[in-house]
Amino acid sequence: MSNIKTTIFGYPRIGPNRELKKALESYWSCKSSKKELLDEGDRLIVEMAKKAIENEIDIVPCNEFSFYDFVLDVSLMVNAIPKRFRKIESTIDTLFAMARGTDNASPSEMTKWFNTNYHYIVPEIEKDTEFSLNENKPLREFALLKDKLKIKTKPVIVGPFTYLKISKVRKEHFENLFESLINVYLQIIKELSNAEAWVIQLDEPWLVMDLENWEAELLIEGYKKIYKNKPNLLIFVQTYYESLSKFEQIIHSLSVDGIGLDFVEGDENFENIKEFGFPNNKILIAGVVSGRDPWKINFTDTLKNLESLTNIVGNRLILSNASPLYHLPITVKSEEGFLPEDILNSLSFADEKIKELTLLKEALITGKISFQQKATAVFPLPDKSLDEIENSIRRRTPEFSVRYELQQKNLNLPLFPTTTIGSFPQTPELRKIRNKYKKGQINSSEYEQYIRKEIEKAVKLQENLGLDVLVHGEFERTDMVEFFAEQLDGFICTKNGWVQSYGSRCVRPPIIYDNIKRKAPITLKETLYAASLTRKPLKGILTGAVTILQWSFPRRDISRKEMVYQIALALREEVLDLEKEGIKIIQIDEPAFREGLPLKSHKHKDYFQWAIGSFHLTTSQVSPTTQIHTHMCYSDFNEIISEIYALDADVISIEASRSKAEILEAFENFKYDLGIGIGVYDIHSPRIPSVEEMTEMIDRAIKLLDKKLIWINPDCGLKTRTYYEIEGALRNMVIAAIRMREKFKN
Ligand code: GLN
Ligand code: ZN
Repeated sequence: MSNIKTTIFGYPRIGPNRELKKALESYWSCKSSKKELLDEGDRLIVEMAKKAIENEIDIVPCNEFSFYDFVLDVSLMVNAIPKRFRKIESTIDTLFAMARGTDNASPSEMTKWFNTNYHYIVPEIEKDTEFSLNENKPLREFALLKDKLKIKTKPVIVGPFTYLKISKVRKEHFENLFESLINVYLQIIKELSNAEAWVIQLDEPWLVMDLENWEAELLIEGYKKIYKNKPNLLIFVQTYYESLSKFEQIIHSLSVDGIGLDFVEGDENFENIKEFGFPNNKILIAGVVSGRDPWKINFTDTLKNLESLTNIVGNRLILSNASPLYHLPITVKSEEGFLPEDILNSLSFADEKIKELTLLKEALITGKISFQQKATAVFPLPDKSLDEIENSIRRRTPEFSVRYELQQKNLNLPLFPTTTIGSFPQTPELRKIRNKYKKGQINSSEYEQYIRKEIEKAVKLQENLGLDVLVHGEFERTDMVEFFAEQLDGFICTKNGWVQSYGSRCVRPPIIYDNIKRKAPITLKETLYAASLTRKPLKGILTGAVTILQWSFPRRDISRKEMVYQIALALREEVLDLEKEGIKIIQIDEPAFREGLPLKSHKHKDYFQWAIGSFHLTTSQVSPTTQIHTHMCYSDFNEIISEIYALDADVISIEASRSKAEILEAFENFKYDLGIGIGVYDIHSPRIPSVEEMTEMIDRAIKLLDKKLIWINPDCGLKTRTYYEIEGALRNMVIAAIRMREKFKN
């Protein structure tokens, strides 16, 4: 047993106080130089490695830092740079251009990484893309750490199979591209080996997806080639988020030195390993400590499982986290004095997870737990039975076509109504005022007064621009989930629990620790104030139950279904209150609806049942004249279009601009006859789109959808933009809508 080692991967790269965010934003706004940015990157790389060393991890990873996204890093490394970005001088500026766009080049698409809230930049691979080695980034980090800390780290890179799968490469081109990519990976590996790397980890989370036979065969062939031609270093393949697909075949036939399995979320891995065994020429990297669950592990249970694993694999075992640690905040320590003691004592973030691994190794070697395991707080069970709630779920009546007429009469909207998704710019001044308020430097009435001013400004702007359905601007919300969590019983928010969402953007997922209930109205005050300022319809905006659950850290003792229903019931009270106070349009945002979908298709049915159920629970009691909207963004809709339809929302607004209206393809095969808002421009980019670009998008939509059902809107909320940017963009958007109305007058 004494040979057992520990390793980690996916350590958060944002820095303990979001240093990365600060460095990026300062560089982007020309307040600091390229050299300062690169130096800060190097400093963070060293700090990350130090954390692993301090916590006595045996195999310390490298290449885990990224200035924007690790998938984008691979694209740059293998020279998958779209033509429109080829002329940019430095690698780092090319990287930012691909991620954020430039004045004359729109950025690459961005989407969610598996079933997480981390977003990656989708590689743009054509059938004739020629991969070649650009800059060997892992080599650079490896050398840096060897120089600075005198250690030989384990480079971690997204594996070639997963990289191509997430690039949406067509089946007929996959084989050639895979082969060409493998050659570049071999070159990377050779250079690493020359620099004295002894092990490399290729992350292949795609291997947990339902693999087809041809995919498994290609994968095995590809890795055979890597293995045959590789220099003298170990190759580990890491899988996570679920259990390995085609377990028996892959575990035995994949040519690698070690395979990493997720024993936390991959509930079938354990059974499979018992049934099919584990090859005696491979190392098992046992992922036993979650990278997504913020609670302390149960040492006794984990040790029991580890002991059964050692009975199968003996000493060929490395203990590891189960999924990347960047889904967790860095340390519980920064919450000391802020969170209540009993909760604090039950939590474990990235640093504490690493420590848990070291403790597990110690316990496994000595055969006993030599440390005090603090009791995890015990929370009360829900008071309404699950069956009771489930049986009360109803779809809305009457059906949409009837509701449509009633709502048209009630709202009197033009053809192609224009609206926005909800949030308006959160200016530096607003952030400053909010900070002052949080620190107690201004009182609540001063703060509210400021929010009211912002609402007035936003309403006036929307009226001037000629938008048809207005919003209040969401100025009181730091974050669409955190804001609701702060006001609901059962949630607790952290002070510094930041997790990277994309690029420089971080979120603080709230923690669910108790039964969820609405204490008091959540959105009424601001919504009604905004409504009182205009004669146009004002849309109330709530975050949906699935998204609140998905972007929070859930409790471990009850099911997700149970938690989502509790949230939905709380939101229903809010919806009915808004309606009672005269709000005629209510939007329930569900941007995480697709993300929550389990990776294994056999688990989809159960998910959709409660995800759709929660939406009905929230919305189905309103009057037919009240218009229910929903919003989703950055999702791949094609495969779930019928479930989205089943939500029965009167209007859904979707992203269409960044995926170049690819999303509209979903409607070629599915007759969608509910209202639909086409996201005609990309709000994640600072550029102001032209009227023509937007009319083109609407033109495409008209070919597939009934024009009386089409709405026009940006593809997401405007909070990260400036007023200058949104004024220009929204003005063009309204012109585009007017032109379309002219065109289709009769
Ligand atoms: N209403 C939210 C906003 O406008 C929606 C954000 C989202 O979809 N992520 O910011
Ligand atoms: Zn959105």
